Amino acid sequence: MGGSRAGLISKIQTVCRDLFLSGLIDSHSGNVSVRRGKNILIKKTGAQLRHFSKSDFVEFPLKALSHPGVSSDYLTHRKIYLEVPQAQAVLHAHPPTAVALSLFLNEIKTVDLEGHYYLPCIPVVSVNYKTYAEETRRKLPEVLRKYPVAIVRGHGTFAHGKDLDEALQWTTLVEQVSKIYFLSRLYKKIS
Ligand SMILES: [Zn+2]
Repeated sequence: MGGSRAGLISKIQTVCRDLFLSGLIDSHSGNVSVRRGKNILIKKTGAQLRHFSKSDFVEFPLKALSHPGVSSDYLTHRKIYLEVPQAQAVLHAHPPTAVALSLFLNEIKTVDLEGHYYLPCIPVVSVNYKTYAEETRRKLPEVLRKYPVAIVRGHGTFAHGKDLDEALQWTTLVEQVSKIYFLSRLYKKIS
């Protein structure tokens, strides 16, 4: 993604505040990054997405296997950028309804019109909690080459887009269509 670094961080702040206020991340969860040519701009470990400063972000070459101050989450984002050429921004969130459904489904076949149009099928990537970081890195990029967003079972969503807004759109939509899916199933059971 182009633009000045300050402008980009201001945009990230808006997107992350929207995520928090929408209940899609809690106070300390989630992560965000953007591709900047051959570099990645990503949040430092420990910084909270709901409010952070410019110094909470670092930019460095994607070829680096680690960087001071970033968590192992970086390796997942890195793998997505390296293996999903169209990904310009990556957003990781914990949407509660989508995560709950992922415990029981291998994919969510959406039932409402908006879901049908934008995300007819949301894949669930199954990982063992003990080895989740390594398994997520190994399994997720291949799925994200075909889909704009996927749910890692029992954990959260990873969405990518041509920019941050598109990644936010997929993240908010996953929770919305998951709620409709869940409520329609619940109604059918009790009616
Ligand atoms: Zn997470």
